[in-house]
Amino acid sequence: MVDARPEVRPAPRLRVIFLGPPGAGKGTQAARLAAWGKVPRVSTGDMLREAIAAGTDLGRQVGPLMEKGSLVPDELLIGIIQERLLGKDCRNGYILDGFPRTLRQAQGFETMVGGDLTEEMLVFDVEVPRSELLRRLSGRRWCPTCQSTYHVDNKPPRADMLCDREGAQLIQREDDKEVAVARRLAEYDERTAPLIDYYRGRSRFFRVNGYRPPDAVFQELTRIAEGRA
Ligand code: AMP
Repeated sequence: MVDARPEVRPAPRLRVIFLGPPGAGKGTQAARLAAWGKVPRVSTGDMLREAIAAGTDLGRQVGPLMEKGSLVPDELLIGIIQERLLGKDCRNGYILDGFPRTLRQAQGFETMVGGDLTEEMLVFDVEVPRSELLRRLSGRRWCPTCQSTYHVDNKPPRADMLCDREGAQLIQREDDKEVAVARRLAEYDERTAPLIDYYRGRSRFFRVNGYRPPDAVFQELTRIAEGRA
């Protein structure tokens, strides 16, 4: 007899890597996608900034590198991610925002999770023209208390230079200043952009145009995540 019960499939796990240069909107899209997919957003930049704010050994080690716009050593990042992904909340998936950023990190991650899982991963390469990246980064303002980001033109706070959530004074991150931005973009070109080829052949890789309103980008991401694109 044919079993007429509908097939019960486990919900697909949402595991995502965001590539793309600084200022491409990865953080915004990663946060929205995490809320949509009910999985945590794992932002290495946020984790490192929290370590700096808390004055831990890690924070003291990475602070000067981050201020300059340089990447932090691979082994530190691989260790941080390995520990974070053991968290119970990561069992059903996660959105990686800012990791991996080098070939060494990508290889370390693959060793951690295995080749099968790497094949299942969705990898979004968010592309934005360089002139627009510079405009976005130079106008970015940041709440040191809750890490929310604003933009002087595109997304100003309600009250002049105060965080909508915390009321804290917004600041310009040291690494959003001109010299550090140039270094971050150079680091991206040299060390992160090669991951595009690495993941193109290994995972479910999608190039996404990030030079559009955030809602349009998000719609495309969810279409892809649902297998509709
Ligand atoms: P983000 O907020 O993702 O732009 O990261 C800010 C800074 O944190 C970067 O410029 C690096 O100094 C450091 N950082 C974050 N993630 C990584 C990573 N995966 N590898 C090396 N450095 C990182």
